[in-house]
Amino acid sequence: MAEHIPARPSWRCRDCGANWPCQPAKLALQREYEGHSLALMLYLMACLYDLLADSESIGVKPDVEQSISRVVGWAIDGPLRVLRTLTQGR
Ligand SMILES: [Zn+2]
Repeated sequence: MAEHIPARPSWRCRDCGANWPCQPAKLALQREYEGHSLALMLYLMACLYDLLADSESIGVKPDVEQSISRVVGWAIDGPLRVLRTLTQGR
């Protein structure tokens, strides 16, 4: 099975060419980080940081808001659930 990992500095998927994380990459990450949504969030934030730095290095001004929702936004539900559980009853 091909791995859907990002090419740098373009941050397009090496396998399918879509903007990373592509749908197969999201599924693979969800599987890999099952039960560890906060760790996934930290990983994606590191990816976001690299994506923004790579964009600048090739002279492209990144759309920060769009990059945040593309790289991190899709995985926010897990951490939000954890936070709600932790703060229940307060
Ligand atoms: Zn892909």
